[in-house]
Amino acid sequence: MTKKIVYNTLLGVSSMISVEEALEKVLSYVKILEPERKPILDCLGQVLAEDVYSTIDIPPLDNSAMDGYALRAEDTREASESSPRYSVVIGEVAAGSMPTKEVKPGTAIRIMTGAPLPEGADAVVKFEDTDEVSRKSSGKDLSQIGILLHVKKGLNVRRRGEDIAKGELTLKKGTVLRPQEIGELASMGHSTALVIRRPIVAILATGDELIGVDQPLAPGQIHDSNTYTIAAEVSRYGGTPRILGIGRDSVQSLTQKIDEGLDADMLITSGGVSKGDYDVVKDVLAEHGEIGFWTVCMKPGKPIAFGVINKVKGREKRKVPHLGLPGNPVSSMITFEQFARPAILKMMGREALAKPTIRAIIESDITNTDGRRLFARVMVTKRGGQYYASVTGPQGSGILTSMAKANGLAVISESSNGAKGGDVVEVQMLDWGEEQGKAQTSPIVSIVGRSESGKTLLVEQLIAEFKRRGYKIATLKHSHCGVIEVDQPGKDTWKFAQAGSDAVCISSPRKLALIKKADHDLRIDEVLPIIGPEFDLVLVEGFKKSKLPKIEVHRKELGNELLCSPEELSAIVTDGSLDTPLADSYKLPILSWADTAAIADFIEKSFVLNRQSNAS
Ligand code: AMP
Ligand code: MG
Repeated sequence: MTKKIVYNTLLGVSSMISVEEALEKVLSYVKILEPERKPILDCLGQVLAEDVYSTIDIPPLDNSAMDGYALRAEDTREASESSPRYSVVIGEVAAGSMPTKEVKPGTAIRIMTGAPLPEGADAVVKFEDTDEVSRKSSGKDLSQIGILLHVKKGLNVRRRGEDIAKGELTLKKGTVLRPQEIGELASMGHSTALVIRRPIVAILATGDELIGVDQPLAPGQIHDSNTYTIAAEVSRYGGTPRILGIGRDSVQSLTQKIDEGLDADMLITSGGVSKGDYDVVKDVLAEHGEIGFWTVCMKPGKPIAFGVINKVKGREKRKVPHLGLPGNPVSSMITFEQFARPAILKMMGREALAKPTIRAIIESDITNTDGRRLFARVMVTKRGGQYYASVTGPQGSGILTSMAKANGLAVISESSNGAKGGDVVEVQMLDWGEEQGKAQTSPIVSIVGRSESGKTLLVEQLIAEFKRRGYKIATLKHSHCGVIEVDQPGKDTWKFAQAGSDAVCISSPRKLALIKKADHDLRIDEVLPIIGPEFDLVLVEGFKKSKLPKIEVHRKELGNELLCSPEELSAIVTDGSLDTPLADSYKLPILSWADTAAIADFIEKSFVLNRQSNAS
């Protein structure tokens, strides 16, 4: 009984908590680790712990961007293919050596890409713009070269310091080192970098039924796979796994194993956290630290233990965060993704912790019966610019093969009872890197005042003033009116547009309208994201040039000619007067203008239901 109180109170949790609350708790218990200096090649994915300034110019000297002839641009002033200008070739310089001569008027130096620009030269003419090839093929020597082109000063010259200037802050503290940053460090001549060190993550599988991968199975046994999945996940996210092996379902066995893991920065166990008789992880941890035993409102992966183990070794005292994942292979992976992965990234000093999500059309029904957040294993594919997600098979929490077939987790909210084929769902992309960069929102300020206080006029004046300062401005007006008028002369939104606002939005209790300046005739794919994904059908009037499925309306008094060719159309709607041979030649469904229901049926069958059944 006392232990139960311990679990429920130490981390202040008694009932089922949300995924966000659980993550917040986990993150509040893990700290950014200390920096270490190490060879740059070992730093991939680590976070820089110092600002790096360049002590050199890169490139260190003006040099050639092409193989060609270095000369004075002025010498080529009248050069053309029909009337070459000839320069005396006074030498040659290759990358890695220094030119020994100065280019004087009327002379040139043959130069290779990357070779320092000789003194006196201010441009490089590439071989193709000289008569070098014809000269060689006609057996002439290269003591002279014909220039076939008038070149400007600076052509094909890479300026000293144009990439990185000496003294420049090249890489800021906090930068995640990717191959390109590692290359930058190398180009500045750094063989090491100061980075936040990688966390050591101890991994312990628990269960009397578990046996090592290299052992034959006896009746009742299974191979321990979680250790491997978790270790691979730890490595994938930049941590160093330390495998503790298999702990048995006894307090003594687990205590001993956990003791071995306490030099680590974090301990991850799997199994032993549900309500079975042998689920002793929580008992062991309650003895050794502050342990929260939670039920998280998610599926799979409801039971999770989390806490800190107080490690006392001699005089050293340390707290080691512990995450007790459920034993079922898929549950342990999905809970790892949601909680252990961000914790590891935080320890590494990473700021972007969220997996990127996309919105995809789900291709079959998913039901969510018990009010928990459902993570469904899906394979996401992109077709015609649209993401689709299909469930990868049986969703039992022991079925690792459906996880292996998945590249994403469709997230169904706890408040939803599921999604129907054709619905748009959010999908966490398992194999994509964490979301980088902060979400961009525009700075915002609201001008308020009583009516007649002159706030509209002030907004107009501010728009004009900020336009003068070169700003791109959006204006948002709140209206209490039921009828929104946009682009109506005299109305506030019109005034804002007149004053120069690049976008004007008006929002009322029930409606929203937006007028946004466009610098070109927008394509439908540029407009659709503004409309939003929540509609069952988008009916478009016009957009004849788009590749959208189209239905053409034909009217007798406008003649027999149609606007579109047959291959562009899905059907023709006519008032009944379409010339029969022509209709036949189009080989398309001909619908009656008067029969709206039939037209709707056609649309429904062809574009709404068809898409869903194709999908399932
Ligand atoms: P538990 O959470 O300990 O009740 O385990 C739940 C299920 O996951 C049981 O069927 C276990 O056999 C299975 N399981 C636990 N640990 C592992 C592991 N390391 N590898 C594979 N399966 C496991
Ligand atoms: Mg077990």
